[in-house]
Amino acid sequence: MALINCPECKRLISDTADFCPHCGFKLTPEIVEEIKRQKEKENKRTKIGCLIFLILFAILIVIGIYEIATMTPEEKRKMAIELQFNKLDGSHYMLTEYIKKHMYDPSSFRHIETFYIDKGEYLIVITKFRGKNAFGAYVINTVTAKVDLNGNILEILDWGK
Ligand SMILES: [Zn+2]
Repeated sequence: MALINCPECKRLISDTADFCPHCGFKLTPEIVEEIKRQKEKENKRTKIGCLIFLILFAILIVIGIYEIATMTPEEKRKMAIELQFNKLDGSHYMLTEYIKKHMYDPSSFRHIETFYIDKGEYLIVITKFRGKNAFGAYVINTVTAKVDLNGNILEILDWGK
């Protein structure tokens, strides 16, 4: 015995039943055969779809690995720097984390702008943001940090008021 979907109400029923116990639809061996054939066809289609998806996915991975493997040191360095910054607002992930951890009210943090100066061995990252101070007033601050090429904060050079 196997379970099939009733062609009328779509609920699961036994393929040996003469009637659907839910809606009373009359089942004949021909109808049951047809339902099973359709189901098999669908399963095959799903399997092929999954296989195509997996193949495309594998191709993308291979292309990605190939692109990284063939990158010049300059391109790798550029990518490592780009990954430190949020593509949407330009903020620096690690510096934003650091600022939030050290400000009076982290939930009041609003990023304004961030830019950086490439010093070769390290970056100088400058972030301007708005946040509440100890008196509950919104103030604009600028933090300047020395950051290594992996995005780690090496030193806070200035926490301006
Ligand atoms: Zn039914």
